[in-house]
Amino acid sequence: MRILTGLAIGEGIARGKAKIYRHAPLVVERKRIAKAQVKRELGLLDRAVQRALAALERQKADQMEGEALAILESHLLMVQDPTYIASIRKLIEERLINAAWATEEVTEEIIRTLEASDDEAFRQRTVDIGDIGRTIVENLYGKSAQSSLVLDEPVILLADTLLPSELFGLDRSNILGLSLDGGGLASHVAILARGLDIPTVIETQLASHVAEDGDDVIIDGIRGEVIIRADHQAVRTVTERYEAYLAHEAELLAGAGMEARTGDGKRILIQSNIQTLGELPFAEAEGSDGIGLFRTEFFFMERSALPSEEEQFLGYKEVLERVAPRSVTIRTIDLGGDKVVSGLNLEEENPVLGFRAIRFCLEHEEIFLTQLRAILRASAFGNAKIMFPMISGIGELKETLRLLETAKGRLKEEGVDFDPDLQVGTMIEVPSAALITDLILRHVDFISIGTNDLIQYTIAVDRNNRKIAHLYQPLHPGVLRLLKHVVDRAHGMGKCVAVCGEMASDPHHAVVLVGLGVDELSMGPHALLKLRKIIRSIDLSAAQSLVDDLLTMDSSEKTEQAVREWMHERFDDLTIR
Ligand code: PEP
Ligand code: MG
Repeated sequence: MRILTGLAIGEGIARGKAKIYRHAPLVVERKRIAKAQVKRELGLLDRAVQRALAALERQKADQMEGEALAILESHLLMVQDPTYIASIRKLIEERLINAAWATEEVTEEIIRTLEASDDEAFRQRTVDIGDIGRTIVENLYGKSAQSSLVLDEPVILLADTLLPSELFGLDRSNILGLSLDGGGLASHVAILARGLDIPTVIETQLASHVAEDGDDVIIDGIRGEVIIRADHQAVRTVTERYEAYLAHEAELLAGAGMEARTGDGKRILIQSNIQTLGELPFAEAEGSDGIGLFRTEFFFMERSALPSEEEQFLGYKEVLERVAPRSVTIRTIDLGGDKVVSGLNLEEENPVLGFRAIRFCLEHEEIFLTQLRAILRASAFGNAKIMFPMISGIGELKETLRLLETAKGRLKEEGVDFDPDLQVGTMIEVPSAALITDLILRHVDFISIGTNDLIQYTIAVDRNNRKIAHLYQPLHPGVLRLLKHVVDRAHGMGKCVAVCGEMASDPHHAVVLVGLGVDELSMGPHALLKLRKIIRSIDLSAAQSLVDDLLTMDSSEKTEQAVREWMHERFDDLTIR
């Protein structure tokens, strides 16, 4: 027996026969061509692109939905990206090389640029562009991209990695469980596996080498284990664990319709964060009290042209209609920093402290006004709130509000409907904004603390830099004091405080936020049910005295230890995992 550990991403447990799949590197034939052959190579390229496109269209028609559809659409856009294809054509014409070689060169160049990004999500996109390049090359050779992996019986698939196109092309009913040697939480294949509800473990490093075809394999997508050739004892332990897990899930589900109210009566709104329309069904199904953060960057990413007002309007309207009467807080674009969009000239030396979010919007009034108009128009169709990211001072806020008034004024003149009482808020994610919460709240209706950025700026620790990840400490005494300052100032003015950063979804951190007085927590849809249960199981007064203790401590080690102990006294492992 061998047990390999990795990251669990598709909850559940599966057992079955192993099917090993490892990629053979694609050997690209590199040929110099004569000038007279250029036309023929260009023709071959066009036909290969058309075939790749047709295959993607077929998969799209094949009952795709949600996240999978969004990923497939991004692949469709990439295959049709005029700059990408034009660069390949140019290489064929100028360097007189064959189409496969030119495709490889251009694709690798894009991959190198993406790999240099600070943003993990961007680095993960290298897999997608590599996948597209590979698909085109395979089509140049007349092969279909999925020819080498066919599943004709239910198996546990153990692969080195899987390209999104391969996962699209597989009969998913034959995948009982999935193990990938590589992966990455933000990778498209991880997102797809999560959406498919297949027990999955990624980053196992070795599983596809250790197991052999036909081995008895268990995928424990709860603990993140791949158990190869399991013995009796292991099977029994895993089965018991699975039963406990099912009972726990049933208990969480039963709480979906109940208010999240502490034992001593404080109602906490539990809302969802979404970043694509594909996530909406999760947010709807899991009993969320609305959308506390609708990130809108996805409209602008992985595409070569800016989205129109109409396209944005339709997207916002759909979310508002589906979530009504619950509210949806739409955040205006937070581009720049770690969310780079090609073509907008956002590359800079120190992007996280640079030209991002509201700073970008105030310099690009036309892009901002288009988004404001789309949001305002959509506000007539549901319960919308609008929120601005990265506000750092009052001058910036006033300028932003002036543009909002401009957009409203123009719509009024045109006789276009919008919600005249639309609530306006700002994120508190820059320390200077946190320190002037009272001044900010003179101008807006609400605030939502973006702890992801607030922590990175308060401790001066890049949230995406693995080397210093240990310094990213949400329970740092400095962070706790700053959060307390924000909550106290807002409550002093009779305003509620929301948190929409990752802290809200982590049980250990969420209880601290509640103890600090936070009124609303917004998180990824996967965490909603758990947080409901946690809030219903604690007393506000107990969380407050925990926070009183934390505020006397001088290090993160001490605050983290105190919270761990507090949680262990109250919850089992499954709940606080
Ligand atoms: C945050 O900074 O906490 C936040 C929610 O915004 P984003 O993660 O999109 O930067
Ligand atoms: Mg942020």
